[in-house]
Amino acid sequence: TRILFEGKRAVGIEYLQNGETKTARAGREVILSGGSINSPQLLQLSGVGPSALLGALGIPVVHANENVGANLQDHVGINYTFKGLLPTLNQILRPWWGKLMVGMQYVLLRSGPLSLSMNNAGGFFRTDPALSRPNMQLYFQAFSTVIPKSGERPILTPDPWPGFSIGLSNCRPSSRGEIMIRSANPRDYPKIVANAFSTEADITEMLAAVKFIRKIAAMPAMAEIIEEEVLPGPSITSDADLIQDLRKRSGTVYHPVSTCRMGPDAARAVVDPRLRVHGLAGLRVIDASIFPDNITGNTNAASIMTGWKGAELVLEDQK
Ligand SMILES: Cc1cc2nc3c(=O)[nH]c(=O)nc-3n(C[C@H](O)[C@H](O)[C@H](O)COP(=O)(O)OP(=O)(O)OC[C@H]3O[C@@H](n4cnc5c(N)ncnc54)[C@H](O)[C@@H]3O)c2cc1C
Repeated sequence: TRILFEGKRAVGIEYLQNGETKTARAGREVILSGGSINSPQLLQLSGVGPSALLGALGIPVVHANENVGANLQDHVGINYTFKGLLPTLNQILRPWWGKLMVGMQYVLLRSGPLSLSMNNAGGFFRTDPALSRPNMQLYFQAFSTVIPKSGERPILTPDPWPGFSIGLSNCRPSSRGEIMIRSANPRDYPKIVANAFSTEADITEMLAAVKFIRKIAAMPAMAEIIEEEVLPGPSITSDADLIQDLRKRSGTVYHPVSTCRMGPDAARAVVDPRLRVHGLAGLRVIDASIFPDNITGNTNAASIMTGWKGAELVLEDQK
């Protein structure tokens, strides 16, 4: 729930167990690995963060740093969904007996649809050939969930027709959001403001990207297996309508980073290049929140690498 400090040194943590508040003292240092949402939340709860926010919530400031919880970066994605002319996974996964069959296939043989990734194919592309590297990630899902049954998770109720989706997410958006606590209570969720598509550049490249999905769908190999586009649908054609649709339907692909970003300059970062929190002693952050900027693709491998590298730094500094 909180990091404990003596002056500017982190000396332990306070935590809740079975409703009881307890403390643990650190032998050497405190390592925060709560992820991009919770690491800045825990720092702010502990008095490390934007001074105006902490002051307004009555949290004593241990160390003021405006970057804690700021600079939130995430990849934002959208699906274009099509009704196909060939059976897709919808036909297997929708009926109860189909769910039972694929469940048994997975349990007994470790194969079948449940052994596959959600995304059956993917890749990267450029929205402008002049770009030096791809700026969009592409996904292909051989199922669709446009009409979820009320009260059920959409993923459990594939559509009755043979549907599939071509999706994409931006690789290096320029929009920046923030994560700020709402109260001094560690059980209150922090406020996450994604601020997606708050720059003209992000809108422009996403507009070009969704047009590219339609280009793919119009290629002969795809066109001959597509009956119709279901989402956003053939009536959405103008730039204004496409932008309105992508603002409405796009969402996180769960790659939040940079809310405790690393950098040598304490005025622009939260941790230094050895992942030590600027201005404090005995405290490191080791998770995806320290990424200086988002990476182009999925963030899990880079997060694991951050953990590995962080562990090496901790060991080196104990010598
Ligand atoms: C739904 C989803 C799908 C994803 N799919 C992919 C994918 O296919 N490929 C890919 O590369 N990446 C994927 N990611 C992203 C990837 O999972 C993350 O980038 C990565 O896990 C980040 O690692 P982390 O160590 O920073 O944080 P996390 O893995 O989130 O670890 C933080 C840990 O801290 C714990 N914690 C937080 N607060 C507290 C607290 N107050 N007290 C105690 N414990 C606390 C959490 O329970 C958690 O175990 C996905 C993420 C999500 C959410």
